[in-house]
Amino acid sequence: MGTIVIKFGGKSLANGTGLNNVLRIIKNKQAVHENLVVVVSARGNTTDQLEGLLETAKQKKGYTTALNNLKKEQLTPCHSPELEQDFTALEDILKGVSYLGDYSPKIKDEVLAQGELFAAKQVAKLLVKEGIKANFVDSRKLIITDSSFGDALTLEKESQEKVLDYFNNQEANTVNVVTGFIAANTAGETTTLGRNGSNYTASLLANYLNASEFQNYTHVDGIFTANPDLVADAQKIEQLSFNEANELANFGASILHAKTILPLVEKGIPLRILNTFNTNDNGTIITKNNTQKGIKSISVLDDVSLVTFEGRGLLGKVGIDARIFNALSNNNISVSIISQGSSERGIGLVIKTNRATDAILALEKEFETDFYKRDVNKISVLDDVVVISIIGQELNDFHKPFNALIKNQITPLLFNNTITGKNVSIIVKKNQLNKAVNVIHGQIFGVAKKINIVIFGKGLVGGTLINQILSNTKAILKRRQIQLNIVAVASSKKVLLNKNGVSENWKIELEQNGIENYTTETIIEFAEKHHLENLIAVDNTASAEFIQEYIPLIKAGFDLVSSNKIANTSSNEFYIQLREVLKENNKQYLYETNVGAGLPLIDTIKLLHHSGEDIVKIKGVFSGSLSYLFNTFSTEDRPFSEVLQEAIDKGFTEPDPREDLCGNDVARKLLILARELDLVNELSDVNIKNLIPEPLRAIDTNTFLQSLDELNAPYQELKSQQKSGNVLRYIGELSGDLSKSNGAKLDVKLVFVPNNSALGSLKGSDSIFEIYTKSYGENPLVIQGAGAGAAVTARGVFGDILRLIEKS
Ligand code: ASP
Ligand code: MG
Repeated sequence: MGTIVIKFGGKSLANGTGLNNVLRIIKNKQAVHENLVVVVSARGNTTDQLEGLLETAKQKKGYTTALNNLKKEQLTPCHSPELEQDFTALEDILKGVSYLGDYSPKIKDEVLAQGELFAAKQVAKLLVKEGIKANFVDSRKLIITDSSFGDALTLEKESQEKVLDYFNNQEANTVNVVTGFIAANTAGETTTLGRNGSNYTASLLANYLNASEFQNYTHVDGIFTANPDLVADAQKIEQLSFNEANELANFGASILHAKTILPLVEKGIPLRILNTFNTNDNGTIITKNNTQKGIKSISVLDDVSLVTFEGRGLLGKVGIDARIFNALSNNNISVSIISQGSSERGIGLVIKTNRATDAILALEKEFETDFYKRDVNKISVLDDVVVISIIGQELNDFHKPFNALIKNQITPLLFNNTITGKNVSIIVKKNQLNKAVNVIHGQIFGVAKKINIVIFGKGLVGGTLINQILSNTKAILKRRQIQLNIVAVASSKKVLLNKNGVSENWKIELEQNGIENYTTETIIEFAEKHHLENLIAVDNTASAEFIQEYIPLIKAGFDLVSSNKIANTSSNEFYIQLREVLKENNKQYLYETNVGAGLPLIDTIKLLHHSGEDIVKIKGVFSGSLSYLFNTFSTEDRPFSEVLQEAIDKGFTEPDPREDLCGNDVARKLLILARELDLVNELSDVNIKNLIPEPLRAIDTNTFLQSLDELNAPYQELKSQQKSGNVLRYIGELSGDLSKSNGAKLDVKLVFVPNNSALGSLKGSDSIFEIYTKSYGENPLVIQGAGAGAAVTARGVFGDILRLIEKS
């Protein structure tokens, strides 16, 4: 095989695993490749340390400790007199700088160059120690540049000559360990190729030597769809083209800097990005071939500020952009993104934060007279912003990720797609970065959409729901690409928080690790802190107070699902306010289980009503417990108390059955249905037949449960009035003129109905709802089935959660 060039970055060369792996990798390759060219960066963050030493010396501060630490690091694992000498020379320079209180770019290059020199010497020595033929190669003898210290320009012809000259005279099977980053001008003075320049050195060598491949060893597996530190679901990109790589380079992937890629493109040399710490991975390969699908990747530009230029009088006039750019470029300030928003917002420019103040000054100076003329009204700067770029994203497909951002309460400050065709960039506040990147990534790559659920109430319905969700998580992930995550379970006393989702042991965990004295704010803060997206709050309490938390939750970005009926049956004012807040915040509220448990009732009524069908009456047995009670009592010859006791024992009633018998629950359901039809009513408008005899209403629960016999006489008396072929039913009825918002008649009553009618033939604890409409006349739409019980209610709540996800 021909020549291959491999380059190791600073992290790979640090003492320990990195350096050990580097040696192993070189050894393995040397066995199969005739000519191995190894390019090294400075080890660890030596370059930064050297820069720091220079600054300290310049400020005449003590640098000895830092220098000694660096020396210790660099002389490990191999100690040599030569390296000792290099340090003495370095110390001499620092002394000089300290004496003068200043240093030139030339001196800086001389100092920074030491990092690569130490590294290459160390690696070559270690290889020789292991019995491998290896040379230390000082690239200052190979790469010749102009004299722009700090960012020197390569003189191609001279460099190529020197490189060929050197390598042509090398024996085969020798590993040449070359310093990256550093070069020399024609006078032989040290220059550098700019930060991260080792990549460039390696690609120049690859070009000159016609290498078959350039392998760049880093500390990551390759190029990802997004930074894996930010997005857990980020995927590695196996292959991309130079064109695509170039796009990525513009947005911060320094490995792929255009300067690095060009020499490779010229000769069609593939670039492979590999991981020193995970040598089993094939990495990402970049070749001249275009991939068919086109790649997409999300990258982030940090440490930037947004400068906003507002000039109503100037915008639209010719030459303004040019003046802005001139003013900035005269001050060496580069603009990474520009966006011309609406005329109100003016022009937005993204620049490095450390240049923000200079930029403002430059612009203020340039537009001084325009300020006086009030053509320019404001130049302002916003720090702590980040640019998120989606590379390979066509603008016309961007609405989905964009909507997802808005849904998650992230409003981009600026939006841009003008740099090069297939990129979209947005600017968001830094504290929204994590959430924003995850939302976008989830949308673009169709990887599982994460839904973060907070469950209030862990009683019968709440507990059942949690277990239902947990046992279906896997199946839903597989079938629907939705990752359900219960991030909080709250009882009235404690809350269990877990950003990765609670486990089957949630009950014990809540007991042991639950936070006491929590408020809703505790949960909201938790969600914010962990950047949780797609939030759903589920209310499975029966609490009247808890509904006060709905509005703060909505404002904090939660959609709501509730089995609690209180919110929909408290004052009409609250009912309307809640819906307004939902609308303002673009949030949903689903409560199918409020009436008829899991039966699709609310949805059906909504659908009929919104499609313009006139509903003229709704009538039915709304309560499962009372359905059982009268279905049984009407047809069996048993005392009322016995049937009631049976219903209690079977768990069909509330612990205190008077909560069912008083009729309020049925009244609430009736009111909820009425309000779905835009009728304006309060709970007090419902005429309720209370099934509890007066004397039994105020006593405590236990006394009541002891006194069930007292119900027998009145109900036996009622039953004696029952004609043959009739049965008793406790029903809710919505009638009157439903076309008028105040025309409804709401009744909850105990009635006789023929046993062969729909209501009369009801069995067990089923519920039935008859919906009468104008076009169907006397034939109502009937919805009937199990309308109560924790399991069906929990199922219904679960259904709401899934529907909500579908809608968003
Ligand atoms: N050591 C230099 C730097 O840190 C060059 C490189 O790592 O590529 O910028
Ligand atoms: Mg329902």
